[in-house]
Amino acid sequence: MGIAMKSTAAALASVVVSVLIGSIVFRGPYGLPDGAGLVMCIVCPLVIAWPASAWLFWQKEKLRIALGEVERSHAMLAEAHRALAEKARRDDMTGMLNREAFFAEVEAARRGTDAGTLLIVDADNFKAINDRFGHLTGDVALLEISTAICRAVREGDIVGRIGGEEFGVFLAGADHRESLQVAERLRREVVAAEFRPTGDARMPLSVSVGGVMHRRASNLSDLLREADRQLYEAKQRGRNQVIFTQVPAAA
Ligand code: GH3
Ligand code: MG
Ligand code: MG
Repeated sequence: MGIAMKSTAAALASVVVSVLIGSIVFRGPYGLPDGAGLVMCIVCPLVIAWPASAWLFWQKEKLRIALGEVERSHAMLAEAHRALAEKARRDDMTGMLNREAFFAEVEAARRGTDAGTLLIVDADNFKAINDRFGHLTGDVALLEISTAICRAVREGDIVGRIGGEEFGVFLAGADHRESLQVAERLRREVVAAEFRPTGDARMPLSVSVGGVMHRRASNLSDLLREADRQLYEAKQRGRNQVIFTQVPAAA
């Protein structure tokens, strides 16, 4: 109902009440106020109640619109805040979790499972790529590697960029055999990546992977140190390979 209609309804209600009161105070024929009394009981409410009601309803409408705008702004602000918080967790170049967010998520995932593997994935001879083709082309190679890693992991695995050309992967719930399979698939996906730095010839990329089975009792820095040791071993043995802790230690 519009403001004019509501104001008219309020004014008519005022007239009815006014006439009822008037008929008690200025009792005339037929139980109604007499003469000038009746005119006053009708005209006064119409003249006063209609504009007063219209003004009140108009203010109420303005308040409703303002509240709607505040709510919309609030929702936009909450969304911007959420997007900003998410951006702060991400690596700008690859869109993967950054180092801090990755380890925070791994810690959270570790609390909920007894199985799982931490992989540290390091691009091989990456300095040589930069030296040969320049840093920008090196960035393209890094993107190819990060895309290949994401292709290889399973839904629910945690992936992050934890250093310049170094990535972390946590395979939550995976046993030793499954972890080896994913790590090998990851290595092969990188080898198969389409990196053509000069536009024509394809240049092979590769990564070395160090892996360690997660043990709930051990802390994350111990696991990281162990995975790093395996990664170092993979580099020593000629790169482009996966090495895991041989015997997963008991908790
Ligand atoms: P290795 O096989 O032993 O790991 O050799 P490497 O050359 O990959 O390792 P090294 O630590 O000697 O060099 C890493 C290189 O990665 C040097 C650094 O400039 C490059 N790098 C790190 N972050 C980025 C990046 O964001 N973009 C580019 N283009 N290069 C990066
Ligand atoms: Mg490297
Ligand atoms: Mg490195």
